[in-house]
Amino acid sequence: MNAEVQKIYDKVVARDPNQPEFHQAVMEVLESLGPVVEKDPKYLPVVEAICEPERVLHFRVPWYDDKGMLHVQRGFRVEMSSAIGPYKGGLRFHPTVNLSILKFLAFEQVFKNSLTTLPMGGGKGGSDFDPKGKSDAEVMRFCQSFMMELQRHIGQFTDVPAGDIGVGGREIGYMFGMYKKIKNEFTGILTGKGLDYGGSLIRSEATGYGCVYFVREMLKVKNDDFKGKTCVVSGSGNVAQFTIEKITELGGKCVTASDSSGFVHDPEGISPEKLAYLMELKNVKRGRIQEYAEKYGCTFTPYDAGLDHNPLWLIKCDIAFPSATQNEINEKDAQTLVKNGCMAVGEGANMPTTPAGVEIFQNAKIMYAPGKASNAGGVACSGLEMSQNSLRVYWTRSEVDAKLDDIMIAIHKNVYETSKIYGRDGDYVFGANVAGFLKVANAMLQ
Ligand code: GLU
Repeated sequence: MNAEVQKIYDKVVARDPNQPEFHQAVMEVLESLGPVVEKDPKYLPVVEAICEPERVLHFRVPWYDDKGMLHVQRGFRVEMSSAIGPYKGGLRFHPTVNLSILKFLAFEQVFKNSLTTLPMGGGKGGSDFDPKGKSDAEVMRFCQSFMMELQRHIGQFTDVPAGDIGVGGREIGYMFGMYKKIKNEFTGILTGKGLDYGGSLIRSEATGYGCVYFVREMLKVKNDDFKGKTCVVSGSGNVAQFTIEKITELGGKCVTASDSSGFVHDPEGISPEKLAYLMELKNVKRGRIQEYAEKYGCTFTPYDAGLDHNPLWLIKCDIAFPSATQNEINEKDAQTLVKNGCMAVGEGANMPTTPAGVEIFQNAKIMYAPGKASNAGGVACSGLEMSQNSLRVYWTRSEVDAKLDDIMIAIHKNVYETSKIYGRDGDYVFGANVAGFLKVANAMLQ
């Protein structure tokens, strides 16, 4: 790392020594910025500034369970950067949520949103509340209490949250309803809304579809496509579901899906009929992935926390789509994937590969797309939802899908060309970090 940039990194770590996920995300970006500050030192102070959130909000969220017991959760919103537009980014409800994780996600979001070509700053929020196993009424009471506090910090021109892990259509609906009541206004304050009250077509599909469009562009550079490719997908939530749908549509075959309990391996491929069952299982029944294996007679492998690797990545594939959560591919997993002939990785999740894993992919010269570029389709479609809300119109499914595809093509082009300008042809990590940074940095300097 460039010596001046290293000093900034050391300062970031010294300020908040207990935030390993945030340090990891900062390190991954700062490692790319040496050539930028060497070419033009005016960017150096900006590098320091972007590592400090503009504002961090931390609040108490009390809620009652169905037995009348009071629980207290922590709520956060990290407003990272508003240099190019209102803060934009999801809310994550998961027991592991803490300030380190939300700062890493907000930091990533700044670069991702910059790459989308749309005017959106970056932020992220959430809570250590776990919606898993809770009744609808409990989730509703929590969401209403969470919004009771969050409402004073957000606004359609200030900060526009959306979903992330643990926050889907149900949670967005409960929060939107509360915001509307408190403020007595109907605006596009949240994205990922239901289609009946201002949501956009394709928003649910957008992260998964966008990730596949991005990988399609990477393959195109090598005169290749999805036809006949075996793909391994982790996760079974919104991102994984629509990744599987689009890959299958483009002629590829997806053979895995997972949740926190383990993964299923279906060598025949997850057909559209099986995917429909999986969607019903996860989205409506809120059941476990094991039931898929029982229904279709394929293998279920439970996760074992004692392992030093994730056994899902032992499944042989042409392309890997980590679509579950951060750091789900470590050095060992990356080695296994490369050894088994994996030619490309499209990250649907945020920072799913550890730095050592990324190094393995890069040394092996496989096509590797970092999440901040390849999963930007979700937030890009959120930007399109904001535009439709402001215009008070609805675009058709094909209109939104075409705009999403154009955006993913533009992101790929920008990232790829930026890598070439600096003599790092095809280094998508470098290209995404530098292209994402330059737009925000130039705006700040202006
Ligand atoms: N949580 C998603 C992400 O990581 C979407 C954010 C949004 O739509 O604002 O990009």
